[in-house]
Amino acid sequence: MSDQNRWHHSPTEALKVGPGFSLADLDPDATPGWHGGEDDAVAEMARRGKDLDALQEQLFARGKEAGDTRSVLLVIQGLDTAGKDGIVTHVVGLVNPMGVKITGFGVPTEEERKHHYLWRIRNALGVFARSHYEQVLVVRVKNLVPPETWETYYDELNAFEAEVAAAGTTVVKIALVISPAEQLRRLAARLDDPSKYWKYNPKDLEVHAAWNEYQAAYQDIFDRCSPASAPWYAIPADRKWYARLAVAEILATALEGLELTWPEATFDVAAEKARIASLDPDGPAAPPVTQQPATPQPTTPKP
Ligand code: AMP
Ligand code: MG
Repeated sequence: MSDQNRWHHSPTEALKVGPGFSLADLDPDATPGWHGGEDDAVAEMARRGKDLDALQEQLFARGKEAGDTRSVLLVIQGLDTAGKDGIVTHVVGLVNPMGVKITGFGVPTEEERKHHYLWRIRNALGVFARSHYEQVLVVRVKNLVPPETWETYYDELNAFEAEVAAAGTTVVKIALVISPAEQLRRLAARLDDPSKYWKYNPKDLEVHAAWNEYQAAYQDIFDRCSPASAPWYAIPADRKWYARLAVAEILATALEGLELTWPEATFDVAAEKARIASLDPDGPAAPPVTQQPATPQPTTPKP
């Protein structure tokens, strides 16, 4: 363990939603398991980010060269301003974008509405900013369908994730938990910065007003959709540096659990080294200059 690593308790254990978990008892400003400040976290993020990058590259390389079809589904949920985009930028952004498919889910489009709500989800497996859980969050809180309909979604979401997990996908679900006061601070900050106006939606205040309904909806998700094969991690997110560090650690730990190795060479390494050593560093010899035969001129027949 390096000096920078001040995880005294792995967030994979400390933040995992287990039986009896109560969202109301989670302090969004806390930093469970981390015995350090922001500076230590930034240093640890740089160190762990390198692991994350290498692990994800191994998974990508195995998919390309070793016929390994395993993958990771990272679900990032949270109310407006909870920091979903920040996780994408500062955690997922630590790995090579070549091997990552990132999708943000908004209000379903006309095309998406023609299909079952899982259609757009199945087509996008990778990193989700919002997800299929909006069906039991916004759809439930805003009464977009009757209760007897959204009641059926929990089993459907579990069945979908069980199917995905059985097909070799490690499902990691992140819930970023902020306090109502922090949400107001972040919304106000968006209005102080013209480069953030695009992130502000006047309707976000409706989400704030429905705070208790969203808390209840999240609690039901934790109670009803937390199988061992697709666990939730409830991340205190008032301190962005903590949330990002915790998600990086949880993700790196999940990838380490796959016990990845680099793909074996499909060629004779020593023979290839010898071939390279035998080659001229100046590049292949230039082709010999050959005298071009003069292009025959059309001859006009003599009279
Ligand atoms: P944002 O993530 O801030 O860009 O906003 C996306 C918006 O899309 C949020 O207001 C979500 O509640 C909304 N949204 C996402 N999924 C759904 C869904 N399945 N049904 C209705 N609204 C959704
Ligand atoms: Mg928003």
